[in-house]
Amino acid sequence: MMTRRGRLRELLKTRDDGFSLKEIQDIMDVRRGALLDDLRHLQLSLKHEEETLLVAPPACIECGFTFHLKEPRAPGRCPSCKSEKIRDPVFKVEADRAAPMARREARA
Ligand SMILES: [Zn+2]
Repeated sequence: MMTRRGRLRELLKTRDDGFSLKEIQDIMDVRRGALLDDLRHLQLSLKHEEETLLVAPPACIECGFTFHLKEPRAPGRCPSCKSEKIRDPVFKVEADRAAPMARREARA
């Protein structure tokens, strides 16, 4: 039986263009706050492995302001124009191309 975080990690490997926060919420049937916790945890745990959590940052739909966040978050309001129409961040898990093992395999 896989943990929720394990299932999240597997899910995020299945699509090249990733999943928006809302899509993941619907697929996994989990609250947004709990999901963001899981994503932060996943980001940290992958630091020690040959995979990376890639994030397309959230952005304001009205003015285009892009949030640069160090960890997965879903801001509710644009600091530039105060709009609350914020495009969800998009997440995917990808194998590190720079990983030594992968490079050796590619050359062989
Ligand atoms: Zn804005």
